[in-house]
Amino acid sequence: MYDVLIIGAGIMGASISRELSKYKLKTIILEKENDVADGTSKANSAIIHAGYDAKEGTLMAKYNAKGNEMYSKIADELDIPFKRIGSFVLAFSEEEKKHLNMLYERGLKNGVPQMEILNFEEIKKIEPNISDSVVAGLYAKTAGIIGPWEATIGMIENAMDNGVELVLNSEVIAIEKKDNFYKVKDSKGNTYESKIIINCAGVYTDKVHNFVYPCEYKIIPRRGQYFVMDKNEGKKVNTVIFQCPNKLGKGVLVTPTVHGNLLLGPDSQDILDKEDKATTTEQLEFIKERATKSVKNISLREVIRTFAGLRAESDTEDFVIKNTNNFIDVAGIKSPGLSAAPAIAEDVSKMIVEILENPLKKEDFNPFRKKQIRFMELSNENKKEIIKKDSSYGRIICRCENITEGEIIDSIHRNIGATTVDGVKRRCRPGMGRCQGGFCGPRIQEILAKELNKPLESIVLDGENSYILTGETKK
Ligand SMILES: Cc1cc2nc3c(=O)[nH]c(=O)nc-3n(C[C@H](O)[C@H](O)[C@H](O)COP(=O)(O)OP(=O)(O)OC[C@H]3O[C@@H](n4cnc5c(N)ncnc54)[C@H](O)[C@@H]3O)c2cc1C
Repeated sequence: MYDVLIIGAGIMGASISRELSKYKLKTIILEKENDVADGTSKANSAIIHAGYDAKEGTLMAKYNAKGNEMYSKIADELDIPFKRIGSFVLAFSEEEKKHLNMLYERGLKNGVPQMEILNFEEIKKIEPNISDSVVAGLYAKTAGIIGPWEATIGMIENAMDNGVELVLNSEVIAIEKKDNFYKVKDSKGNTYESKIIINCAGVYTDKVHNFVYPCEYKIIPRRGQYFVMDKNEGKKVNTVIFQCPNKLGKGVLVTPTVHGNLLLGPDSQDILDKEDKATTTEQLEFIKERATKSVKNISLREVIRTFAGLRAESDTEDFVIKNTNNFIDVAGIKSPGLSAAPAIAEDVSKMIVEILENPLKKEDFNPFRKKQIRFMELSNENKKEIIKKDSSYGRIICRCENITEGEIIDSIHRNIGATTVDGVKRRCRPGMGRCQGGFCGPRIQEILAKELNKPLESIVLDGENSYILTGETKK
């Protein structure tokens, strides 16, 4: 019998499991995909928002600024790439300037520190490429950028180091309420019993809720598309540049990423299919037009990738965090969910501590994760030392991002090690560069096959059926 069973290994399942791993509890995460961070937590803007957007009184407002504050310590403990670079919301007219004032006032009510409204000249000193038609901007110094999948992987890795169990390829397909526990059935035919269920299934939270109780909310997937630009463009802006938000969200942004690329997007489109992550010419054109309204001199020839993510938009228009007979929904976690996750996790953990009547804290909880070697960031002296100990760090596999074989092997043999080509990419970045894995992809497949002792053709790109090779051609 488990104390807590978490459904879904996105940033919510990750941060809650890490919080719970501080207690003497038997906790398990079931994830339907073959890796963690494979839902919305891998496809978003990667911004740790300051917290002025959400209407005061909402759960989004309650958790955003608090989560933002918590990330410095978490990133430090878990070796997650995170930079507090600040953000601007731009106004292009006197009318929009009124909106900035409203956001500023809202930010104060939401507890956001270090905000100010700057005029065009002042913005230009920080952002030389800002559009000449900008009138003013709300500057929030606490906003940051993060590696969203690194955050999710880091949190789960640390939760597992502290005793949490994880089962991949385990889609929850039925939940039965018993007297004082739940019986959960997964797609592998396994059953699990748990006193508490936490539903962190992203866009599927309403479906999962319906397995056991009629669901009072509905999740509508709201798709957002992006361009990733090559690192040549990464220095076009120094901060996160938003436009004034509208009914559908925070609008199109221009931002550097933690790894030095430039990101443009997202748009906002309600769709019917919870798996539809397609990008479309029409919407990508819209993003180009909006992004170049904010920032001059973006070279649109430098696009290296497009992608889309699905916001879990609840018809309640807020996060849904609710306990029904020890079945806890953490649903409708749209933006700013990534930013808010640690603060939500802290509160959900308090709910569980109360339900389980004060379980003991672990005295030996280890908040730190084993650091990753990022070879190219080391001094020449350190590089030599590492190669002396392990020559695989002397072989560059990804020439765009300069990733060594040693880093790839390490990503395969960690707790929740990579088993797919994209899994390696999300952990240590080979294939993230200009050639998008065109050159290093086959080498990574070979390394995976060797390290996992599996046939080459069984190594997939990402999801379970995303095979790359079907068999030998010349037998
Ligand atoms: C376009 C876009 C931009 C965004 N930008 C930002 C931003 O800049 N800053 C920010 O703070 N937030 C942002 N967000 C929001 C943020 O990405 C989400 O709030 C967050 O990732 C949600 O995490 P989650 O764990 O709830 O969901 P997910 O990451 O989707 O995780 C849910 C998991 O549950 C699994 N699952 C589903 N059903 C089952 C089942 N039956 N059994 C087992 N497992 C199951 C899924 O496979 C998935 O892995 C953005 C979102 C989008 C789409």
